[in-house]
Amino acid sequence: MRISIKIKFSIFLAALLLLTVFILSLLVLRGIKINQVEQYEKYLARQTETANVYFMQTILAESNKIPQIFLNTKGVEFAKQLELLTGQTVVMYDENGKVVSKKTTPSRPDSIGQTLEFALEGKTAYLVEQDMLYYLTPLNVENEQVGVIQFYYSLTEDNEFYNRIRQTFITIGASIFILSFILAYIYFNSFAIGIIKLEQMVDRVRKGHYEITVLRRRDEIGRLSVGIHAMSNQIRSTLKDMEEEQEKLTLAVNKLSLLDQQQKQFIGNVTHEFKTPLTSIKAYLDLLEMYPDDDELLETAQTNIKSETERLYEMVDKVLQLSTLEKYDFEYNPEKIEINQITSSVLQSLSGKMNKFGIKLEAELTEAYVNADKDSIIIILVNLLDNAIKYNKIDGKIFVKNYIHEEQVYIEITDTGIGIPKEAVTRVFEPFYTVDKNRSRQSGGAGLGLSLVKKYIDKQGGSIKLINSDENGTTFRISFPEA
Ligand code: ADP
Repeated sequence: MRISIKIKFSIFLAALLLLTVFILSLLVLRGIKINQVEQYEKYLARQTETANVYFMQTILAESNKIPQIFLNTKGVEFAKQLELLTGQTVVMYDENGKVVSKKTTPSRPDSIGQTLEFALEGKTAYLVEQDMLYYLTPLNVENEQVGVIQFYYSLTEDNEFYNRIRQTFITIGASIFILSFILAYIYFNSFAIGIIKLEQMVDRVRKGHYEITVLRRRDEIGRLSVGIHAMSNQIRSTLKDMEEEQEKLTLAVNKLSLLDQQQKQFIGNVTHEFKTPLTSIKAYLDLLEMYPDDDELLETAQTNIKSETERLYEMVDKVLQLSTLEKYDFEYNPEKIEINQITSSVLQSLSGKMNKFGIKLEAELTEAYVNADKDSIIIILVNLLDNAIKYNKIDGKIFVKNYIHEEQVYIEITDTGIGIPKEAVTRVFEPFYTVDKNRSRQSGGAGLGLSLVKKYIDKQGGSIKLINSDENGTTFRISFPEA
């Protein structure tokens, strides 16, 4: 059974007070007893003195002055006189212990014999039986014992007084016990409420609820609640930190495994994409070995080996650029570039290729400045425009414009080409992703152009978006902060 702390404290305090009352009552009752004994001993000693003096006077007045004879002959009468004088019931014994006074004295206890023997030996002795005290004292004449006087002394009053006081103490003790228990219970209850609240606070924290209210008290319990509150806050913030750390760690692990996966895929793609032109070159070389005199084969082989080698060269170049961009210490030299100028010169350099495919160009360029690496901007524009040519229709169009909006410089490249299917829109920036392998291969691409473009743009704080693509063509928009 669980006894609450307030009951334990209350019982302890009440028991302590009860013990105090008990010890006090013992001392007081003992004092009363000693005092009572002293009183009646003194009183009976005086009575003894009176009896002895009176006996002496009576003897002297008698003709026969032998005390023993007097006692035996006039003992009854003397005892009566003495009773009148002392106001006590008196029994008289001769020197042999024989009763010489009236026989109708109050009943004597059997054990009085021993006390009588003491008295006969000249000593005063008394016996207490219930409320009655039998006081036996020698009767002396000129220092010679002639008999024994026995006084009866009632202890009823003394005992009643003693019992009354004892009863009072019992009542006081019981009342103090009950009262102190009630008062202590009320007093400790306020502490117990505090302790119960502290227990509830700790319980809440244990269950993971860290919002707790501090107790408005100025004592140790109040301070303890402040301590628990501080501890709970500390635990909460530590847990939060740990959770955040764990979250970061999980993110880092996920990112690392994604990177690892991407890297593996990248290597797989590189191997695959490199193998195709190399296989083609090897096949032509094998054929030339077998038919060294076939002029027609020589011509075809030359053309194909040249184009495959160019493709390989371009791929190696792009892969190298991509891996350079992956490095943290990739260096580029930002400078203030005029977009109109640089776009015009890139368009100029590609005009031959456009003409080859009968593609018409429309440009709407205005003066705008950005802070960027010139070579990177050229690579970006060349790749985007190259795609706009490669994936255009015969006699198609390319429309290039730039503008400034909210401190951003935008360049939009729109073509009237085949468009990018919806399912491919989110993947075109992945390395080695091509919508149509054959078409890309025909046009010399390996799915690296857009991923390279995005990397260059990201590195310089810009952004690229495929804003429109359908069967009528495609529009890419790039933007950089205005310089
Ligand atoms: P590639 O070097 O093969 O052209 P890119 O990374 O430049 O690779 O482009 C990825 C894919 O996106 C291409 O295979 C092509 O199918 C598609 N694509 C890119 N630009 C255009 C465009 N202007 N019009 C249509 N399709 C495009």
